[in-house]
Amino acid sequence: MHPTSEPPIDPEESRLRVGPPADHAAGLKAVQVSMGRALRQMGPVKTARNLLTLNQADGFDCMSCAWPDPQGHRHTAEFCENGAKAVSWEGVRDTVGPAFFAEHSITDLAGRTDYWLEKQGRLTHPMVRRDGGDHYEPISWADAFALIGAHLNALDSPDEAIFYTSGRASNEAAFLYQLLARSYGTNNLPDCSNMCHESTSVGLAGTIGVGKGSVSLQDLHEADLIVVSGQNPGTNHPRMLTALEIAKRNGARILAINPLPEAGLLRFDNPQKARGLAGHGTGLADKLLRIRSNGDLALWQAIGHLLVTAHESAIDSAFVEAYTIGFESWKKHIRELDRGAVLRATGLTWAEIEEAAGMLASSKRIVHCWAMGITQHHNAVATIKEFVNVTLLQGMIGKPGAGLCPVRGHSNVQGDRTMGIWEKPPAIFLDRLRDEFGFEPPRHHGYDAADAVRALRDGRAKVFIALGGNFVAAMSDTNVTAAAMRKAALTVQISTKLNRSHVDAGRTALILPTLGRTERDLTGGRVQRVTVEDSMSAVHASRGRSAPAGPLLRSEVAIVCGIGASIAGNEIIWADFSDNYDEIRERIGRVVPGCEGYADKIRTAGGFTMPHGPRDHRTFPTAAGRAIFTVSPLEVLSVPPGRLVLQTLRSHDQFNTTIYGLDDRYRGIRSGRRVLFISAADLTELGFADGDHVDLISEWEDGVERRADRFRLVEYPTPKGCVAAYYPETNPLVPLDSQAAESGTPTSKWVVVRCERVKKVPHVGAGAADTRT
Ligand code: SF4
Repeated sequence: MHPTSEPPIDPEESRLRVGPPADHAAGLKAVQVSMGRALRQMGPVKTARNLLTLNQADGFDCMSCAWPDPQGHRHTAEFCENGAKAVSWEGVRDTVGPAFFAEHSITDLAGRTDYWLEKQGRLTHPMVRRDGGDHYEPISWADAFALIGAHLNALDSPDEAIFYTSGRASNEAAFLYQLLARSYGTNNLPDCSNMCHESTSVGLAGTIGVGKGSVSLQDLHEADLIVVSGQNPGTNHPRMLTALEIAKRNGARILAINPLPEAGLLRFDNPQKARGLAGHGTGLADKLLRIRSNGDLALWQAIGHLLVTAHESAIDSAFVEAYTIGFESWKKHIRELDRGAVLRATGLTWAEIEEAAGMLASSKRIVHCWAMGITQHHNAVATIKEFVNVTLLQGMIGKPGAGLCPVRGHSNVQGDRTMGIWEKPPAIFLDRLRDEFGFEPPRHHGYDAADAVRALRDGRAKVFIALGGNFVAAMSDTNVTAAAMRKAALTVQISTKLNRSHVDAGRTALILPTLGRTERDLTGGRVQRVTVEDSMSAVHASRGRSAPAGPLLRSEVAIVCGIGASIAGNEIIWADFSDNYDEIRERIGRVVPGCEGYADKIRTAGGFTMPHGPRDHRTFPTAAGRAIFTVSPLEVLSVPPGRLVLQTLRSHDQFNTTIYGLDDRYRGIRSGRRVLFISAADLTELGFADGDHVDLISEWEDGVERRADRFRLVEYPTPKGCVAAYYPETNPLVPLDSQAAESGTPTSKWVVVRCERVKKVPHVGAGAADTRT
């Protein structure tokens, strides 16, 4: 029996309250929330042990975002509110074992919200749902591995199996996992990067030759201008605010470009400082451009145009001459700018754009930061290439205080890619893998995340194994993804907590409980460390201290080795690795470019930084051996009358698909999530009022009607025509085939929707309140 669940609506939404948005981030409230959650969920002893070792040199790496740790002095509390929430979420005392699954059928679980599922506690036992069953039952580890082996051994082709990775997996687990997939015979290694920063990887690799950012924390501190585009650091990378504050104290200006005036772009009340706790924080954005969704490509073409035509002294001609190609073609293109198109695309005035260009022209050290507000668009790669054009024009790469800074959202998503989690591996990586392990890896490309869904949907893939994450909730087109997953013969979820992907699972489904970052890993009877890489290419060790949530939990490394050993004819000696992570690191050192001597390097406190040619010595490993100016057509995406452009985003009480609570205090939302942020002008034009409820229907060229029901309209300072709502609730609206050109990233920041008025709102009654003034 297979439930056909759509994520249900939380009955708690009846208590939704709306107030004014905050004008600053962090402060005393952040401390209160952090400590309150930690003490409630972990108790005092575990709270002290976990929070005092979080992000410390000999402690464990925060499992939340990929913001780097300082290289020198670290504070006693070297974390943010959302880091503390992530640790509390993992360290919670509640557990989910066989008794829970005996009580709750899968049909029952399908009727629960994602928030409820994850709130139940840590998974403690390997569990299986047999084909036709409606309950998960306990299974031994040996039988679980045998079951996986039986399925993999029976496939007609290795390409019928998919090996997905979430960005939490350690470098050691990721390296073994790609070895598992490739020694089995497939490059089907989709990852969460496919859904977020793939556009960055493609855009940077195609222009500077390296798909990673080029700055260190020190560069941010030394910059005199920091551009923050399509990013909400207050919620998604909160310790970035500390770096911005240091930069401001050093005299930097900040140019923020975002549709919403997020609290973390306005002011930072640093809770490490008395001033911050007292509410006297540091002002952040010197200029905030409230741009229309998808206006960034046009904006950066306009800024390039103004630099070339009105600020020639800002051009670093020596750099352009020595290190780049394609400048003249780009200059010709950019000179012919269509101003009218720029103004339509951005919703900004020409004076605002001139002011922004003037800020760049008058700066000597510029760091460009961006996140998903840029990457999840149809033309995301072109936009990132336009950032690069302006960066090259001004020679802002490979010098102190300057460079490109994509800010990644999941703690080890960059490291996993370095370790070979990629459906399109480069030949050099495969050659080294072959030489080290003595097998010929597959050379044809595998499935990315969207292709994985298509393959499952169409019956071309039958087994889906996930090293962490919550693929069903994270991926676009939720109903299509869930249905595809239910068609699989076998799904395997290596997980810490219950989630939607355990409900919308294959006909046979396994849950394999694994250790979290906070927990002591005694695999093989010795204390094991793992390693991770942050957004700025710094690699370091991570070691948890807390007792595991249950005695049956295994490390990700041990689980991957167990699966590997179950595959008939696989010649990798998995036992060499399962107890000895140093041996894995020795192999990483011999296979992964840039990781030579890895096992030794990570023994140094603070680890090491991966080499990066453009950053380190202005060498650009492109085919031409130079950085490349690229020409992209200026696009103005049109929206039919009466329709709006939706961007999906996180609340402040959320990390990716994990929902910690129902508040988003930075945007004035309490006790609910089904809200649609909409401008006053759109409310008037569409005949709605703040507080009305609507169903959202997305419109896409395939003609399929995708719905997400019952959202309360919240008047908000978002540009006219642009609305915003939380994911994963709105992921059902993002069509699977609506992907960024070149990178395939879902276009979650550009979803054309219409609103239909809800006449009767069943759950909203006397308890609903609106405290907005
Ligand atoms: S900034 Fe990111 S990595 Fe650092 S503590 Fe906060 S959530 Fe964790």
